[in-house]
Amino acid sequence: MSSKKEFILYIEDLTVSFDGFKAVDGLNLYVEKDELRVIIGPNGAGKTTVLDLICGKTQPTSGSVLFKDKELIGLSEHEIVREGVGRKFQTPSIYENLTVYENLEVSYPSGRGVLGCLAFKRSPEVVARIREVAKEIYLDHLLDAEGAILSHGQKQWLEIGMLLMQEPQLIMLDEPVAGMSPAEREQTAALLNRISKGRAIIIIEHDMEFVSRIAHRVTVLHLGKILAEGSMEQVQHNPKVIEVYLGH
Ligand code: ADP
Ligand code: MG
Repeated sequence: MSSKKEFILYIEDLTVSFDGFKAVDGLNLYVEKDELRVIIGPNGAGKTTVLDLICGKTQPTSGSVLFKDKELIGLSEHEIVREGVGRKFQTPSIYENLTVYENLEVSYPSGRGVLGCLAFKRSPEVVARIREVAKEIYLDHLLDAEGAILSHGQKQWLEIGMLLMQEPQLIMLDEPVAGMSPAEREQTAALLNRISKGRAIIIIEHDMEFVSRIAHRVTVLHLGKILAEGSMEQVQHNPKVIEVYLGH
């Protein structure tokens, strides 16, 4: 009976009020496995708040967030990470004084083995995983470089890599290409397309050219509600979307 089965993420009637102001208002959002969903909309539309609600940073006033048929509302941020949800914030938060290798190493889930210690982390399995992820994020030639010397774009990639170490099934990114060079944007589009396979990705993005290259489906938020949803083609030609967002 349940149509929930096709969706990895099933959000119903999600609402949060801040002092009577509904930043997210009765949101229904359904994301499939392998899907790369982009959320767009004007400043203050509630985009970041939606991610805050999914990852447990903010508690909703009402509503439900089912992830792989499990209710996330009421769980702590840590528990939600353990359920397989990874979130990257707008500014990179890597360890500047650790190397690329070490940044990835500390991100390996420590609870996964009997020994959550460094000896365990240096196991061949973990080393192989670090190398695999470093290659995925274009940093395999910089494993011994300190975080501090990386370019802004490389720091963003490293943070995506730190998420990948945990093998999340849902990854959420807030404006991942802000401040990146055109070449870095190109590489990021390819990276995101690759890593959406086998999981789901939700991205908040303003750069419409970039959105058109990555989005499987686009959700347009306005005043905490969905204004439009569909392919990039569809939302781009939607008069309401042009009026409140794209026309500016
Ligand atoms: P967007 O990411 O689409 O620009 P946000 O989700 O950051 O929008 O914010 C939506 C609205 O909710 C804004 O008006 C913002 O000021 C408000 N808001 C967000 N978080 C909080 C909070 N913790 N307390 C009060 N108001 C908030
Ligand atoms: Mg925001």
